[in-house]
Amino acid sequence: MSKVIVIGAGVVGASAAYRLAAAGADVLVLEARRIGGGTSGVSFAYTNATHKPPRPYHDINVAGMRAHAALKDEFGSTPWWHGGGNVEWFLTADEQAEQRRNAERLTDWGYAVEWITPRELREMEPDIDPALIGDGPIAWYVEEGWLDPVVYAGHMMRAAMRHGAKVECGVRVVDVVLAGSRVTGVRTADGTVHGADVVVNCAGRWANDAVAAVGLQIPLAPTVGLLVFTPPTPSTLSRVLHSPHLQVRPDGAGRLMLHWGGADREMTPDTPATPTMPWAKEMLERARALLPVIGDVGVEAARITIRPIPGDGFSCIGPVPRNEGYYLAITHSGATMAPFLGACVADEIVGGKTRSELETVRPSRFFN
Ligand SMILES: Cc1cc2nc3c(=O)[nH]c(=O)nc-3n(C[C@H](O)[C@H](O)[C@H](O)COP(=O)(O)OP(=O)(O)OC[C@H]3O[C@@H](n4cnc5c(N)ncnc54)[C@H](O)[C@@H]3O)c2cc1C
Repeated sequence: MSKVIVIGAGVVGASAAYRLAAAGADVLVLEARRIGGGTSGVSFAYTNATHKPPRPYHDINVAGMRAHAALKDEFGSTPWWHGGGNVEWFLTADEQAEQRRNAERLTDWGYAVEWITPRELREMEPDIDPALIGDGPIAWYVEEGWLDPVVYAGHMMRAAMRHGAKVECGVRVVDVVLAGSRVTGVRTADGTVHGADVVVNCAGRWANDAVAAVGLQIPLAPTVGLLVFTPPTPSTLSRVLHSPHLQVRPDGAGRLMLHWGGADREMTPDTPATPTMPWAKEMLERARALLPVIGDVGVEAARITIRPIPGDGFSCIGPVPRNEGYYLAITHSGATMAPFLGACVADEIVGGKTRSELETVRPSRFFN
């Protein structure tokens, strides 16, 4: 039986741990903080492939969406995933033309896009102020949804444990152990060495902190995001909205999660995120204009979070060349792709298969 160490228990590590353990590997997960306590715990986590060209990258996002849907058959219910699709509309003619071009390409690729009228949107989401819908085209990406990543990661980790996986939280990996060019385990901050046949690095934006040798690190191009949370509100919003005013989705129990790209661009990793910061107030005002029903709620929390993005903007999944026993699974859009990537990791490490869908996102492009 292969002994596999998974570094990190976010959505990607939890998915990998589950599939590896279910495939028969002897799995040990080492997590520096807590399950889902990294980027996965503060993510818009919208499951989609709407704006993800080129085709191979789009396809692995679609594979993630399908893998989320398939978990319902496997687990009976998926309380971590919420459907209803995503609705998108724009104000300017240029944006609307670009939206049409993108939708045509998606349709050619077999992706579900429906055009709905303002009246249909009002029927679907009666909380939206009709004046902010306008009369332009409205796209409904029917198969999209959103994930509660902490709930998902927790479920996957418990499923992994039912297959014998062990999980240690509060344990930071500081380096991989090498015998020649072969990775034979990891060293943790307290000096303990854990041996393994394969080490899978799922540490997200901290991936390079878990390996000291620069030759084993990958270029990362992280970007900063601001997410703003309301307390429970009377809103009945039931799906993701990409409006020209704000991106918003339900976050359980009537809470809303707010995001705006313009705010992201003004954040740095050190920006103090507080409920009273100007962008949090501005985003709440936009939410109130879009969904007047929320009334006089304040901001419950504002959080700065950093996207784990490999240097060229695409995922980095697969074995590291010339270093047998070392495998990377680092990606943005991890909320969308996690269950698919978990299955790929297990197929490649335990099943002896090569997943051709990952051909364009291999680590080898960073190691030549
Ligand atoms: C603002 C924002 C919006 C986003 N929106 C979306 C979206 O709409 N759709 C989507 O699909 N994706 C989205 N993402 C991206 C998505 O959240 C990430 O791709 C995903 O959460 C990555 O999961 P992960 O498991 O790889 O990383 P993480 O969740 O960060 O997990 C890595 C884990 O490794 C642990 N760790 C780190 N270093 C070590 C170490 N040395 N030893 C042991 N453990 C370690 C960490 O504590 C952490 O728990 C968004 C991200 C941000 C920031």
